[in-house]
Amino acid sequence: MQRIAVLTSGGDSSGMNPAIRAVTRKAIYHGIEVIGIKRGYTGFIEGEMSLLNLGSVADIIQRGGTMLFSARSEEFRTPEGRKKAFENVERFGIQGLIVIGGDGSFRGARQFHKEFGLPIIGVPGTIDNDIVGTDYSIGFDTAINTVVDAINKIRDTATSHERTFIVEVMGRDTGFIALTAGLAAGAESILIPEKPFSINDICHKLMQGHKRGKLHSIILVAEGASDSFDVASQIKEKTGFDTKVIILGHLQRGGAPTAYERVIGSCMGAKAVELLRNGEVLKMVGMQAGKIVALDIEDSALKKKPIDMDMYDLANILSI
Ligand code: ADP
Repeated sequence: MQRIAVLTSGGDSSGMNPAIRAVTRKAIYHGIEVIGIKRGYTGFIEGEMSLLNLGSVADIIQRGGTMLFSARSEEFRTPEGRKKAFENVERFGIQGLIVIGGDGSFRGARQFHKEFGLPIIGVPGTIDNDIVGTDYSIGFDTAINTVVDAINKIRDTATSHERTFIVEVMGRDTGFIALTAGLAAGAESILIPEKPFSINDICHKLMQGHKRGKLHSIILVAEGASDSFDVASQIKEKTGFDTKVIILGHLQRGGAPTAYERVIGSCMGAKAVELLRNGEVLKMVGMQAGKIVALDIEDSALKKKPIDMDMYDLANILSI
């Protein structure tokens, strides 16, 4: 294998840069040239790509986002769009591709591999940590640290004004960010799409806390669990507590990658190169029981990743 390419696709996440750096340097170490494709599948179709050298990926390990930029491409969903991308594969002599992105990007990768046979390795990158098969996706640790940091700040003002804060976090239709950040930040209640909740129970807990002298409460709501403003107005109505809503939004995507993120991003990027070198043609890098492993990329599309209900129960027990 003499030349491979790398792209980042779908929602960006902190930690993609350390992964791009690892792909590039690990490949060059083994004498393989690396082409960086800009703007995900859009740049793949449009031929927006150039050779990366050791210096191209200098000074990025500490930066959030992705130096290759990311995009969503409607054209790549069409056979004509993918054919254009394959013309670039031939034009640039690309013998393998590493796709850093979420399950949508992997669906595109599978389709492309099926049609043209190009070896493709996926590296899971999404703050939502919802990719089936892997315990970890690049971006999650930085995102939950951002949420925890925000909650620390919100608690200061919440205490001063004796308020209840509803903090809405990302996660699409999953509650991984809400649950993990909620446990880490000591949220009083955590609302996730995987578990039905009762406003009456939440209000009861708030009242109990108030009775024993709690000055404020944080309720963490995953975006897919409920409408935060609706939850706030119901709580206000039932308890009379001053209740505010904060939607953390896209700030959860950015920021310097945490040390853990940089380590895992580096390991996963390097593993992807290793898999291509070993002749794998369609795999996903993942983490299982703390080890970086090769997984069947098909599995990421099959079902929904289950949330850790033991962790959910523990968060509830610890926030009584
Ligand atoms: P993520 O990778 O973060 O889940 P998306 O779901 O938006 O993000 O997917 C990223 C891109 O992958 C899409 O914009 C599209 O170009 C491509 N893609 C997704 N699903 C398919 C598919 N079934 N066939 C071809 N391309 C796809």
